[in-house]
Amino acid sequence: MRRLRRRPSAAEARALADAARAARRWAYAPYSRFPVGAAVLTASGKIITGCNIENASYGLSICAERAAIHRAVAEGHRRLPAVGVAAREATMPCGACRQVMREFGVEHVIVAGPRGTPRVFRLADLLGHPFGPEDLGRRKSRR
Ligand SMILES: [Zn+2]
Repeated sequence: MRRLRRRPSAAEARALADAARAARRWAYAPYSRFPVGAAVLTASGKIITGCNIENASYGLSICAERAAIHRAVAEGHRRLPAVGVAAREATMPCGACRQVMREFGVEHVIVAGPRGTPRVFRLADLLGHPFGPEDLGRRKSRR
């Protein structure tokens, strides 16, 4: 899987969903008891996972999607064509995660429950009229 301007194939969507499902086991969610896993596809074809990490100071908790994206960025990846997310039921990413996805060029979001066929969404449909680097007079950072 490389750059996915096109819609991910069923096999590609399943691979990201399965990686996100596997990452759920590492979730630290003692307060919500809602473990979530995420998997980011990099432009170079690598899959990097994350999980939600909560904190007793609730506001410091981070979603699985942002944990995975931040991890990918910290490993040197700047363009992330797709993100998969998995929870005990198919759950859409929150607004904060959608905004962070926008920053790093996510085009497709794969949403999965514990099993079954994942759903594929275009980020453009989930985050209409987004704010982005170009609004600050900057070009998007690409790698
Ligand atoms: Zn979120």
